[in-house]
Amino acid sequence: MRDPGRKIAPVASAQTSQAQTSLAKTSLAGQDRQGLALALRQLGVPDNKLRMRVAQLWRWIYVHGATSFDDMSDVSKDLRARLGVAHTLDRLQIVTEQISTDGTRKWLARLPRRGAELTPPEIETVYIPEADRGTLCISSQVGCTLNCTFCHTGTQALVRNLEACEIVGQILLARDRLGDWAYADRAAHGPARRPAIETRGLPEAERKITNIVLMGMGEPLYNFDNVRTAIEVAADGEGLSLSKRRITLSTSGVVPEIERWGAEAGTMLAISLHAVGDDLRNELVPINRKYPIKALLDACRAYPGLSNARRITFEYVMLKGINDSIGDAKKLVRLLAGIPAKINLIPFNPWPGSPYECSPWEEIERFADVVNRAGYASPVRTPRGRDISAACGQLKSQSRKLRASQRLTARTELPGQKKTR
Ligand code: SAH
Ligand code: SF4
Repeated sequence: MRDPGRKIAPVASAQTSQAQTSLAKTSLAGQDRQGLALALRQLGVPDNKLRMRVAQLWRWIYVHGATSFDDMSDVSKDLRARLGVAHTLDRLQIVTEQISTDGTRKWLARLPRRGAELTPPEIETVYIPEADRGTLCISSQVGCTLNCTFCHTGTQALVRNLEACEIVGQILLARDRLGDWAYADRAAHGPARRPAIETRGLPEAERKITNIVLMGMGEPLYNFDNVRTAIEVAADGEGLSLSKRRITLSTSGVVPEIERWGAEAGTMLAISLHAVGDDLRNELVPINRKYPIKALLDACRAYPGLSNARRITFEYVMLKGINDSIGDAKKLVRLLAGIPAKINLIPFNPWPGSPYECSPWEEIERFADVVNRAGYASPVRTPRGRDISAACGQLKSQSRKLRASQRLTARTELPGQKKTR
């Protein structure tokens, strides 16, 4: 029997060698239509054929999950060859894959190195299966500029924003590992076959990923443009086809960008509220000093398309003796009056050195009672994947940004030439 929650590492050998042989090539996996059009134009595809060629590539990449241009049976051999010379369909490199006893999966993925980065940054992506659906929790930044005191990611300084293709790349990676592509056509025409996958805990539904939440590492509204581009790729009905009603962006409360996100992207919205008064919220979610609760809730009221069927989720982490009194619950209900809302009570997930404890179960239930009696269905979010540190707020990678002085030192230390001082 498999060791539950054991670490499988590394899963990266195939991708690594692929990446090594194609250093100068760029991957088209994760690109938006514009990116594909640009690549095709550079390969000499005439303007009047671009739309058709982009549509072909789009279908192979985002419906069939093609990993080789050779799979693309309706693309001419000549173009496939030219694509193969300049590009790959390489995925983000998986460093480790962990599977929890409850079926939750967590991947540590290595991003391509950019600019002055000495080591490739790493991010975490989590998949949470349930009986009838599967939710993929994706990261938008390596680290975070904000320092919410209860969040593990908040202890990791921002290394960089993810590119749009790296955000989409997390969905591709998960679909690969879950066998969640329309393989049939691809198998009929090309060498690819459905891979053998670990099926423990996967939903019965044909689609393994039905929902996306931007609740991984980082503050998505601080990487607005790239997150928006990625969401447009994810929601494209001719490709990954994840409806915007099943995509939720979670924010700590970047008020001006909430309005813009509503107008430009219009996914579902979740707000990390966590406190009902400004004094406590200033401490727990320090961005509150800039955008206090009133401004935040005004932005929520103005979010487009709200109705009882399209509610904003308010996330509230249960911290023992800090924000979990009956008085807090009553204030919470008063505060949200008039906003179509869901309240998500999240038991605090501890991490090494975290300064809080999770509220005892009876306290959480008492709190939930008040909220329920006020007419909110307030599911207490069962912590998933705790045994592999995949639960909310437990994500953190080792990536660190080097200070300018460290970068200089490191650049002068070529491999094998350790500085002697
Ligand atoms: N930066 C965004 C999205 C990532 S955090 C945001 O803050 O909304 C995803 C959710 O996990 C947020 O609601 C966050 O407040 C919550 N969270 C962070 N640390 C947690 C912890 N240790 N236990 C439980 N929830 C946590
Ligand atoms: Fe950043 Fe969100 Fe964590 Fe706050 S809760 S530190 S905004 S990732």
